[in-house]
Amino acid sequence: MVPAAILVATWFLVPHIAGLPPARQELAAFAPYIVTLLGMFLAVHFHRGRPFMALLLLALFYWCSRSLPADGQFEPALNKVYQGFVLLLPLNLLLITLMRERGVFSTAGRLRFVFLALQAAAVMWLFRYHFADLLPYIARSYTRLPLVSSLLIPQPAIVTGSICFVGISLLALRRQSPVDSSMLGALAAFFIACNWLTTADIHSAYCAAGALIITLGVLRDSYNMAFRDDLTGIPSRRSLNENLQGLGRNYTIAMLDVDHFKRFNDTYGHDVGDQVLKMVARRMMDVGGGGKAYRYGGEEFTILFSGRRVEDALPYLEELRTSIADYRLALRAEERPKDSRQGKEKRGSRAGRGEGAYAAVTISIGVAESGNSLNNAAEVMKAADKALYKAKNRGRNQVCR
Ligand code: GH3
Ligand code: MG
Ligand code: MG
Repeated sequence: MVPAAILVATWFLVPHIAGLPPARQELAAFAPYIVTLLGMFLAVHFHRGRPFMALLLLALFYWCSRSLPADGQFEPALNKVYQGFVLLLPLNLLLITLMRERGVFSTAGRLRFVFLALQAAAVMWLFRYHFADLLPYIARSYTRLPLVSSLLIPQPAIVTGSICFVGISLLALRRQSPVDSSMLGALAAFFIACNWLTTADIHSAYCAAGALIITLGVLRDSYNMAFRDDLTGIPSRRSLNENLQGLGRNYTIAMLDVDHFKRFNDTYGHDVGDQVLKMVARRMMDVGGGGKAYRYGGEEFTILFSGRRVEDALPYLEELRTSIADYRLALRAEERPKDSRQGKEKRGSRAGRGEGAYAAVTISIGVAESGNSLNNAAEVMKAADKALYKAKNRGRNQVCR
């Protein structure tokens, strides 16, 4: 969303660059460097090696394409640089997106810079001595389709770039992380910058836009780190505390706790325990009635119903409780309890050695609403906690108020 908005906004900003006084135009030409430096600073600060590398590549492309003469036509040197970047930068962005985050100056991070440098050296050597042999392949035209042949980008680069675009899209969709979607936005900006290589304003504006998209990706990622729970992906306690501040007079708070979770962990292992937490979080995200879910800590969760009374929230909480109790978590062979007696003891679950062994969990919920003698969120939460304690004492797997 944010990357797309920047791409569109840049398009509308470009015509205004030409109207700026000359001094400001100079500054606009430096915008990609300024944004890149800012982004790199943030990436180092937050130990984000992947965006750092992407920024480095984009800035390198901009520096090379600007420092060589274009004169509306390709000069031989610029053509070499262009062909190299237009073909390889998208592939590198895909590679970066595939990589795991390993920091900027860690050993793994530094090795990646070595890889980039080796790649650049290899391409420079190849282009220096064999460019004329390679050009017929990398600048080949397969189709005369007006839309495709009107582009400056050579057709083989369109093919590899499109493959990279689809690859990064799939990764970004699956991971839902701001850094991955910023890679996609940066690739789009790079394509536009490539296609308008000889139109200085568009070229520099989109190089800056690409760097800005990645920089914002780093910022949004670090925001998520602070306000989202790492394991389940739902908002964290810090986010809850923040949202409690802006509440109106009427609200309902539910505290949830997984039943006998310690025993569950002991029986099936911590990994299966984590899977259960993720499952519970997923179902909580779908709770109706406008309830917003948070991980309070450990196996405890909170749902905030803003502007609702307990009566309004109860049916949704009851629905959530049954949907979790009905859920069957399939177990792999190595996760089934070795001791079958231990397995049988596990409340509400069936665990065998045969096919289709599964585990089941239940949750207890305590609810309380604002008003009466409860004047602030802390007091309502305390009351919800008390109700949760009641639900536990009454035999668990129930909602109490
Ligand atoms: P009760 O029904 O009374 O709530 O029993 P309980 O065992 O759920 O209660 P208790 O609070 O004693 O146990 C919570 C356990 O949750 C302790 C810890 O092993 C486990 N736990 C906390 N956080 C995590 C986590 O992130 N992952 C996993 N797998 N387990 C966790
Ligand atoms: Mg607990
Ligand atoms: Mg518990």
